Amino acid sequence: MSRNVMEITWEELEKMDKKKTVMFITLAPIEQHGRHLPLGVDVYESKYWEQETLKLLENKYTDYEFLVMPPVTFGYGSMSGFPGNLYLKQTTIKAVAYEIIENIVNWGINNIVIISGHADPKHLIAIEEACEEINTKYGVCAFSPMGAIFSSKEKGLSINNHPKIKEIYNKFSNDFHAGWIETSNMLDIENSLVKSNYLKQPDVDINPQDMIYPEKISRKIEKFGHIGYPKIAKAELGKLLNEEMVQILFEAVNAFIKRDNYQLYEHHFLYNNPYLRTNKNEGVK
Ligand SMILES: [Zn+2]
Repeated sequence: MSRNVMEITWEELEKMDKKKTVMFITLAPIEQHGRHLPLGVDVYESKYWEQETLKLLENKYTDYEFLVMPPVTFGYGSMSGFPGNLYLKQTTIKAVAYEIIENIVNWGINNIVIISGHADPKHLIAIEEACEEINTKYGVCAFSPMGAIFSSKEKGLSINNHPKIKEIYNKFSNDFHAGWIETSNMLDIENSLVKSNYLKQPDVDINPQDMIYPEKISRKIEKFGHIGYPKIAKAELGKLLNEEMVQILFEAVNAFIKRDNYQLYEHHFLYNNPYLRTNKNEGVK
């Protein structure tokens, strides 16, 4: 069984075998998700994937302790123009991630996994930078695999997509925010939180290259808030998507615990793009 860190004492924490303790942290924002999905989608997705991945890990690592933090519900994002976003600056996200992780390293834990259902590259890259600095200072102990997983196609990571999912990906690949993917995921995770008007939302198409330009995104999402094709969402698709996510997350965390080729999952494919890094505005010194 995994334990919520809020429910244990410092003494219990002190007595744990730290070499065999893994801490999970969800770091994903409250954020507008169209007219049909709740503000907490990225948090619900992260917590669900975390919980299901933990079930697989607990089966495999029976002598390990798994700890879970309450979710940290802010992030860097660009779905602006609507109430309901809890955004911080990219440099703040990096600082927050770094300082949280550093506290936990000082508790003696050196397996710390960050989960984020929020796919904005600048959000994920800020967390990856924090992990990299922590790992340089303290030795490898922090791991944020979601950037690599969200860019699994570009990174050549193998996800065995179900034929049904493959077929829809091929036709409706530009589904970036509150579209068929997230709506299906939520229909599977907690369908009472999905409004039936998802069936009436228009298709909103965007060129993938434009996803890094906030002004272009703002124009696209005007009045609605989503990018993609919510009306083709289905609970069965969400079940398949969530299972595939949990499978690759399990493989990534497993690689990290064993320190075996985990580097494959350390970075978003755009990590080396200077415009997406936190120090991009510092200029020449
Ligand atoms: Zn989302």
